[in-house]
Amino acid sequence: MDRDEVSRQFRAYLRDHNLPITAQRLAIADIVLGSDNHLSAEDIMLELGARGAVAGTATVYRTLELLIRSGLAVERDFGEGFKRFESTRDTPHHEHLLCTLCGKVTEFSDERLERMTMLIAESNGYSRLRHRLVIAGVCEGCRNRESV
Ligand SMILES: [Zn+2]
Ligand SMILES: [Zn+2]
Repeated sequence: MDRDEVSRQFRAYLRDHNLPITAQRLAIADIVLGSDNHLSAEDIMLELGARGAVAGTATVYRTLELLIRSGLAVERDFGEGFKRFESTRDTPHHEHLLCTLCGKVTEFSDERLERMTMLIAESNGYSRLRHRLVIAGVCEGCRNRESV
């Protein structure tokens, strides 16, 4: 799905639910759905500002809620004290690495890990539904900066 297609889907969602299609909502959707990053509400506010758009915090949160309900975005909690949001577009199941110094997020997926979670669930008498893994650490860039 490309960016126009997800934007079209969000407009369709708003229309189907009799919600106003405002320029602010579309701008927020475009930022979240058009990004490959895991954005915080603050990141989104900054990006809106950079684009010369104005939207209050309440509008940002309400729009994020709509994006999640429409299935176009998901919420991530990496235990940082705030949530991050990412587009579900072209993102099959994946796990995350989080740099505790700069907040950089890296995605990965690993077949062995997937099999492992299945085996762990089974050996405990569970049928696996879903899992989430966040590996916290220090990224290469920050390690290099620290050593100078
Ligand atoms: Zn870092
Ligand atoms: Zn991700």
